[in-house]
Amino acid sequence: MSDYDAIILGAGAAGLMCAAVAGQRGRRILLVDHAEQAGKKILISGGGRCNFTNMHTAADRYISANPHFAKSALGRYTAQDFLALVESYGIAWHEKTLGQLFCDGSAKQIVEMLLDECDKGRVDLSLGRGVTGVEQGDGGYRVSLDGRAVTAPALVIATGGPSIPKMGATGFAYDLARQFGLKVVEPRPALVPLTLGGDEILFRELSGVAADVVATAGKTAFREAALFTHRGLSGPAILQASSYWRHGQPVGIDFVPDRDSGWLPAAKRTTPRTTLRKLLGGTLPDRLAETLSERLGMTGEISTLTDRRLQDAERALSHWQLTPNGSEGYAKAEVTAGGISTAELSSQTMEAKRVKNLYAVGEAVDVTGWLGGYNFQWAWASGWAAGQVL
Ligand SMILES: Cc1cc2nc3c(=O)[nH]c(=O)nc-3n(C[C@H](O)[C@H](O)[C@H](O)COP(=O)(O)OP(=O)(O)OC[C@H]3O[C@@H](n4cnc5c(N)ncnc54)[C@H](O)[C@@H]3O)c2cc1C
Repeated sequence: MSDYDAIILGAGAAGLMCAAVAGQRGRRILLVDHAEQAGKKILISGGGRCNFTNMHTAADRYISANPHFAKSALGRYTAQDFLALVESYGIAWHEKTLGQLFCDGSAKQIVEMLLDECDKGRVDLSLGRGVTGVEQGDGGYRVSLDGRAVTAPALVIATGGPSIPKMGATGFAYDLARQFGLKVVEPRPALVPLTLGGDEILFRELSGVAADVVATAGKTAFREAALFTHRGLSGPAILQASSYWRHGQPVGIDFVPDRDSGWLPAAKRTTPRTTLRKLLGGTLPDRLAETLSERLGMTGEISTLTDRRLQDAERALSHWQLTPNGSEGYAKAEVTAGGISTAELSSQTMEAKRVKNLYAVGEAVDVTGWLGGYNFQWAWASGWAAGQVL
């Protein structure tokens, strides 16, 4: 007889949820993590307050080779469901912005809640032990932990992606998937600051300056704050755009999203003695207004400029193109895009179609959410979906 009904590798957001759900269904579950502590990313998330879900969760806020894949799990375990769980523990929360829900207190409350849920399901937790091997045979899986081997008929890969390796994040999920012949969509850092070089290095002088912009990568645009950094660009608008950005592509920035077409020629007629810097300074930080005016070569009174030049300036300000020379990589990426191909998995259960009783959940899978609680909601929903059937 097997030691457990299922072994779940990775005691992060998805693994904890999956273990709790399956355990409460009466399954004998072992939850394994090489870290000494469960849910380490939850603990540091949302600046320590954990942006645990988003009320606007929908499949179109996720990036995946199959944009429909996430629908089933997200539809069956919703943001409201997770919120109901949070409330049942009396955890105080608030909506910060754009449907993003945070704890009033601390992210620790979310980890404690999930551990409590695991306790209710009599889940065995094995922390601080690395997985040294996984084999399939005799109708089940045999997992070697440092100095111990355990068996179960089912195995769940919940070891996340390689973002923030210093926290114990690894690409182990992909190694394991490949071991079992599952395809992996090329992983890449996402929700990550972008770096500038060449001529655009000048923007680094604005380090610390933030502005409300629309940032566009590919066909996707985000209106939020952008932040200039000593290496390039960050802030929510840029992090969001980074998930859609590919090397060599520009990021478009609209510095004047609320201005109507023709605003500069109109300003020339009403306030001819003013400068572009002063006009931009009405909505942008002064240092940014100054840099943009200088870069456009328009430092004098606007009365001296032709309408044509003003129209060109308008276009440049609303379609500013910066071409990042890279990103800050996995060391700074909040998530990893790509991962275990959704074509390999059932969207209902997260089970591999070609490998019986092997499941993959959470960030390990090629489903990546926008910034704002969407990634945890995917972890909860996909963990819940597998937990229902283990
Ligand atoms: C700084 C930061 C802030 C974030 N803030 C938010 C936020 O506020 N809201 C939001 O929605 N998302 C946020 N995220 C993203 C979110 O944390 C992840 O998407 C989510 O944790 C993914 O859940 P998971 O269970 O798939 O993976 P993880 O939570 O990463 O869990 C994977 C687990 O597997 C373990 N593991 C890895 N390799 C091995 C191995 N070889 N053997 C054994 N165990 C292994 C790890 O130790 C880890 O505990 C944030 C991420 C970061 C880095």
